[in-house]
Amino acid sequence: MTSQIICQHCDEPFDYTDAEREFRQERGLARPLLCPTCRQRDRQRRNGDLVNLYMRTDSFDPFLLGENTQAGSTSRNTQDIRTMYDATCAACGESTRVPFIPRNDRPVYCKDCFNARKGR
Ligand SMILES: [Zn+2]
Ligand SMILES: [Zn+2]
Repeated sequence: MTSQIICQHCDEPFDYTDAEREFRQERGLARPLLCPTCRQRDRQRRNGDLVNLYMRTDSFDPFLLGENTQAGSTSRNTQDIRTMYDATCAACGESTRVPFIPRNDRPVYCKDCFNARKGR
């Protein structure tokens, strides 16, 4: 026996077949509230919302962007800010900061001593 259901969206009656009722009962689903047309439209609208949500999230969250975009912005940032390393001046013993990793086999000088040696 095929019953009819009135769509809650467009008030149009639509067929609710025995086959569909069995299909839904097997999966523990309630009977449909919307006609097939409105159900499809509803699903498409929801998918559209999802796409919009992802688009919005993308523009705000850099972690969702492609690796290339992220790497590009990272290298641009590191060019502006040079990493400074703590070092001890080999001439006057004052602690100083140098833009390279201090090595034991090469003396590191503070700015004053470096300029003084260069000027000699
Ligand atoms: Zn409908
Ligand atoms: Zn020094």
